[in-house]
Amino acid sequence: MTGAISPSASPQHGLTDRLARWAKGLSGKPDEEATAEDQRPRPGSASNREVNRRRQLYGEIGDFLFAHDLDLTPINFSVALDYLTGANIGVEKAIKAVLMERGKITNGWIESVAADQRADEVTPDSLATMLDKVEENLTQFTGLMHESRNSAKDYGAALQEQAKGLAEGSDAEPVLARLVGLTRSMVEKTRLVETQLRDNQKQTQALKSSLENARRAAEHDHLTGLPNRRAFEGVLREEVKLAQDNGETLSVAFCDIDHFKHVNDTHGHDTGDRVLKFVAGLLAKASDDHCHVARHGGEEFVMLFRGKTAAEACEAVDAVREDLATRSLVNRSNGERMERVSFSAGVANVLAYDDPRSALKAADRALYLAKEHGRNRVYLAAETD
Ligand code: GH3
Ligand code: MG
Ligand code: MG
Repeated sequence: MTGAISPSASPQHGLTDRLARWAKGLSGKPDEEATAEDQRPRPGSASNREVNRRRQLYGEIGDFLFAHDLDLTPINFSVALDYLTGANIGVEKAIKAVLMERGKITNGWIESVAADQRADEVTPDSLATMLDKVEENLTQFTGLMHESRNSAKDYGAALQEQAKGLAEGSDAEPVLARLVGLTRSMVEKTRLVETQLRDNQKQTQALKSSLENARRAAEHDHLTGLPNRRAFEGVLREEVKLAQDNGETLSVAFCDIDHFKHVNDTHGHDTGDRVLKFVAGLLAKASDDHCHVARHGGEEFVMLFRGKTAAEACEAVDAVREDLATRSLVNRSNGERMERVSFSAGVANVLAYDDPRSALKAADRALYLAKEHGRNRVYLAAETD
């Protein structure tokens, strides 16, 4: 199901934004995006209800911290917030598991969960440490090579000296003994350097694989194995250049699973994760040198088609949409048949806009309208957006 659209907007907010908005709500201040008329909460009005909702959440966070005897620290607050709002699935799962197991959460446990989450991330600090190690190994390697060259040079000079003695007819025995001594010490030195070089090589190999893992982790989503948004942004830059250089078309699609929250709520997050992987797999089947698929975040995927017009890309995405929408998935944890899973998508011609960012926005607006008009459909963005 495809169609043409007119522009619209769909704002997104991060955790910091949400915290700031709650704080504003609690102090009775208006939302940033509220209109002038919305600004004074009236009894029973939407904004009054919003203030009450926030107050309630604030109370729930307090109750949660109090019930588990947790200190009032930013990290405890943020974990409680993630758990109660379902904003961070990893945290939510970990808390549910520990509650089932021991019924209580402690300050120390929260610290360790936060540390685990941090360990998964490739931080600038961890990269800097790895790079320092690489530098250190290189310096060591250069030092070893230098040492080895100098020993070989010294050995060569000493050999020449002794050979000269032999040629001048001096007593051969002490000269030969000296030569044997020199050779032994050279063999020992060479062995030592060899061992040190082998160690250095092993360390460098381990560092190489840590760096490769870090690069993979930084550019791949660990749930679906697809490239992540960061990697996609790099690919987009390269593909724009390739398409412009070769005079090819380039189209982008945003795909967002329909009512995914409902899938999680009905079947649990583990099943939700499996659905995400399944959809990722279907989309990935379409990928090749000219079609890149990435997980843009949450239950949203992005596809880039080089050499396809936006209408052709629309058709390609629609084929995947139809494939998914006609499948009947089974919840592996209880064997029950699930309701149909579908996604909606918005497609835009990247080179028809001033910059790729505007094209992405246009595809996102098309997606928003596909949702508004009933979901399970692919919309083409109007190029006048
Ligand atoms: P719509 O059709 O309008 O897109 O509705 P929706 O429910 O899909 O959209 P909404 O943005 O309300 O909810 C998206 C949900 O996706 C909320 C979030 O918990 C869930 N989600 C995001 N990332 C993951 C994940 O990695 N695993 C699981 N299981 N759920 C996730
Ligand atoms: Mg969705
Ligand atoms: Mg979404």
